[in-house]
Amino acid sequence: MAKIIDGKKISVQIKEELKEKVAKLKRDGKEITLAVIQVGNDEASTVYVGNKKKACEYIGIHSLSYELSEETTQDKLLELIEELNQKEEVHGILVQLPLPKHIDENAVIHAISPKKDVDGFHPQNVGALSIGESGFVSCTPAGIIQLLKRSGIEIAGKHCVVIGRSNIVGKPMAMLLLRENGTVTVCHSKTKDLAKLTKQADILVAAIGKPKFITKEYIKEGAVVIDVGIHRMENKKLCGDVDYDDVIDKVSAITPVPGGVGPMTIAMLMYNCVESISL
Ligand code: NAD
Repeated sequence: MAKIIDGKKISVQIKEELKEKVAKLKRDGKEITLAVIQVGNDEASTVYVGNKKKACEYIGIHSLSYELSEETTQDKLLELIEELNQKEEVHGILVQLPLPKHIDENAVIHAISPKKDVDGFHPQNVGALSIGESGFVSCTPAGIIQLLKRSGIEIAGKHCVVIGRSNIVGKPMAMLLLRENGTVTVCHSKTKDLAKLTKQADILVAAIGKPKFITKEYIKEGAVVIDVGIHRMENKKLCGDVDYDDVIDKVSAITPVPGGVGPMTIAMLMYNCVESISL
């Protein structure tokens, strides 16, 4: 019987631990503040931003909300970020992506002080991860490491295959698995004979962005499968990059969608916010 890795439960555990830490900081007279910036009113972004603010409230982190119009210029946004960089009482800065097309996302990522970059996207934090120094780590892959560890799944010595090489998920995932002493293979859209590689995986992380792409033909018997994908199907239900029903009898453990990786992303954002006060 496959173990279903309960991301909801693990994310609640993490949030409870953080809540206690924040309460202790408050008793010492320290309050964490996160600035959340949204440009425009993309529906999905509004939901994500709302969930992040709710999580802050639950844990006891003070959040400042900046809702800017779709027409905001890049210069105006960079000006606001610089102002927040300078404010000592602001510990973390989060700019919800994607941004409107006229704004260069890279310029925005570069503008956030690495010490306040709770998303872990700044090149300084990305570089720190790749050379094993401390820094903020991208929330989704950091959450996956927590899922594995807290489910008692050993990473060291395992063949970990990551499908996807995005800056937000695939690449930091590979770096983190390497840091945990996994043997890592990264696959992407130009990989030849994907199934040949994925069938060697003890731990398979699917971050492809294609609904139900991974079927049992891609999986080794007894593999651990982590499904990062989130897709809304025609019947309004959510599914991942993995065809859950097709693979369930072949895997030893799997994350469901919803309730697997998704809830961990916000929990790890909160983790990064709590870390930000000590920088
Ligand atoms: P992305 O589109 O930036 O990257 C997808 C990657 O998949 C690319 O590197 C590409 O090379 C690879 N790919 C595409 N087709 C492939 C193929 N046929 N064979 C092998 N590789 C292929 O996406 P992303 O931002 O990394 O996100 C991936 C998925 O995870 C999406 O479904 C996204 O919605 C989801 N996601 C979920 C969370 C969460 O909190 N659960 C967070 C971020 C992303």
